[in-house]
Amino acid sequence: MTIPFRTNVQQMAGYAPGEQPQDTGWVKLNTNENPYPPSPKVVEAIQNAATGRLNVYPDPHASSFRKAAAKLFDVSPDWILPANGSDENLTILMRSFCDDNDVVAYPYPSYVLYETLAQIQRCTVTRLQLNDEFQWEASAAAAVRTSAKVVFVPNPNSPTGNRWSADQLAEIAPDRGILVLDEAYGDFADEPHRGQLLQDQRFAKRMIVTRTLSKSYSLAGLRFGFSIADPELTTGMQKVKDSYNCDTIAIAAATAAIEDQDWMMQNRDRIIASRNRLAGELATMGFNVHPSQTNFLWTTHPTSRHREIYEGLKARKVLVRFMQFDGPHRNIDGLRITIGTDDEIDRFLEATTEVLSQTA
Ligand SMILES: *Cc1c(COP(=O)(O)O)cnc(C)c1O
Repeated sequence: MTIPFRTNVQQMAGYAPGEQPQDTGWVKLNTNENPYPPSPKVVEAIQNAATGRLNVYPDPHASSFRKAAAKLFDVSPDWILPANGSDENLTILMRSFCDDNDVVAYPYPSYVLYETLAQIQRCTVTRLQLNDEFQWEASAAAAVRTSAKVVFVPNPNSPTGNRWSADQLAEIAPDRGILVLDEAYGDFADEPHRGQLLQDQRFAKRMIVTRTLSKSYSLAGLRFGFSIADPELTTGMQKVKDSYNCDTIAIAAATAAIEDQDWMMQNRDRIIASRNRLAGELATMGFNVHPSQTNFLWTTHPTSRHREIYEGLKARKVLVRFMQFDGPHRNIDGLRITIGTDDEIDRFLEATTEVLSQTA
């Protein structure tokens, strides 16, 4: 007997997250986590919350967090909508704005979870193909602008690491829809964005910025993200979220994290310094390294033996992300390498030297 899944669920492959090995000893450079611990104030907030009132439901509005985030982005608290990780932001957006057969567009290569969420919602997906410089073509952008209900753009992008300007974003902001700026890596950008684009009249009431505490705030294990948008948008989106999507401990921790900007910025600066060092070393070893405004590097090797390099590194307990994107004109593959501590980068470099000498 067949199990009666919805047809689209039956047919979809589902999103494959990066490997999360549960044993120790790995140099883990595959899922863009922060190698440094969260602020000690976060740990203290978690301890206090744990000895507090866990028998009652959390604040459904996460008011303390909204207030702290609003201050940081210079908006009022009703512009902030907290979520259980930024992936939940994306789910809330999809449920709020996308009906059957609506067009959902996103640059390709980028974050393929958008496509999975669109499939669950029975939407039509348009991949906005990026060229060799990881830019979109004007004609394709115009087609997306007139047809899409929602356009998702990671800015800076993953896995390519580049960032689009306000003028470029205006080219693809849908005429009758919503532009979602997924700023998972926003804090690593050359000029960290603090929501300025939300005040740009070209995007008024049709842009939503999403953020996560997983990367720059070192809290991937906690699950906390938030959307920033005009209150007319957040009020509507509120209706489709779980009532208690963020728990008491996460709200306390996330509030403490976002209030400790010095801690986050210090780690951000260290990561950028390590990224610049790694980019130089990789280039010396013969890799092509794409300029990055994130906590990872997109690299290709002239031999194109990316899968072999990935496997060789994995055999040495160094995990990076091997990625493959198929396009109508060409297929792209390469390695996305998260910036770890300097010690981790040293171990990565040693292992890579060994692997290259064997695959040559
Ligand atoms: C990591 C990431 C997210 C998800 O963040 P979580 O808060 O951990 O769910 C969303 N978008 C992009 C582009 C990411 O890289």
